[in-house]
Amino acid sequence: MILALIEHDRGTLNPLSLEMLTFARGLAAEQNLPLEAVVVGGDGRGLAGELAGQGIARLHVADHPRLTDYAPEAWAHTLLHLIETELPQAVLAAGTDRGNEVLAHTAARANLPLAANCVAVQPGEPYHITRIRWGGSLLEEATLNGSPKLLTVAPHTIPAEAASGPAPELVSVTPPLDDRDFRVMVTAREETRGDKVTLVDARVVVGGGRGVGSAAGFASLDELAALVDGAVGCSRAVTNEGWRPHADQVGQTGTRIAPDLYIACGISGAIQHMVGCKGAKHVLAVNTDPQAPILSKADYAVIGDLHEVIPAIVEEIK
Ligand code: FAD
Repeated sequence: MILALIEHDRGTLNPLSLEMLTFARGLAAEQNLPLEAVVVGGDGRGLAGELAGQGIARLHVADHPRLTDYAPEAWAHTLLHLIETELPQAVLAAGTDRGNEVLAHTAARANLPLAANCVAVQPGEPYHITRIRWGGSLLEEATLNGSPKLLTVAPHTIPAEAASGPAPELVSVTPPLDDRDFRVMVTAREETRGDKVTLVDARVVVGGGRGVGSAAGFASLDELAALVDGAVGCSRAVTNEGWRPHADQVGQTGTRIAPDLYIACGISGAIQHMVGCKGAKHVLAVNTDPQAPILSKADYAVIGDLHEVIPAIVEEIK
């Protein structure tokens, strides 16, 4: 059978799991194997209804008194337990931060290879897979060995399609977890302000890079973003400096954005940054260096000091 890890946060389904299920269903059908799934944490039990029509024969609900919130090693140990007891041919998860993290732990503990961010698979021995590498700038053809095969499915590459069929049969499982599995777990949550436009949804993103110079230097960028109902993003140089939180980072190891307009201020345009904003319809670069790489990607550019240019734009809009 093929085993799919369903990602949820305190009982709320991550929709990227539905894309992964579409992929997993195809893989199961090609090999004539049943598709089964697992949710970790008793609060995932309620997802059975939402997962009806996904072609899942059985939904394993892994419950344990200490599984109160996301804990990557505990989730991985749960998968290992199911690998040992249910002997799946392949284990899949969505290629999210959590999906990749849990399968990486699983792979390390089982001494198995993991193929992350797959977009296509041809089963056999070995599997032939195509996966996204280098922040989306290339597709890699590779072979995947090991038993079971471990892979994650690249987000937003396969549309989620529902199959027909009943709700899955629920199977309760208690994984043998211990202290080691809870060295890392979510212990506190900070809610973002609900009325604030997020980086992912914003139609205008004002991004700041090292050229902003300091945390305080972001004041004019914040002001501009507020005036145009946009959001502020930043480069990794900025998060490394501690000027902004990682949640604001745009790029390969940050958030992917797709605004109508991205105003990149004091950002050089490194490939790892540009993969995060390649969905932007228009890019306006503000940079003192006429040779900055971002200028070759920008639709518009102002060569100048952002500390003069941005306040001038703010004044003009006001
Ligand atoms: P710099 O490259 O230092 O550029 C600063 C720019 O500001 C320059 O072009 C300069 O001309 C301009 N400038 C300076 N002063 C002013 C001023 N007063 N007014 C106007 N312009 C000014 N980076 C990301 O951003 N996101 C990622 O997700 C990411 N992931 C990475 C993953 C890996 C594995 C690696 C190796 C790197 C990653 N990076 C990422 C880092 C990336 O390679 C760059 O180092 C980073 O993007 C540079 O940030 P920057 O453009 O702000 O700084």
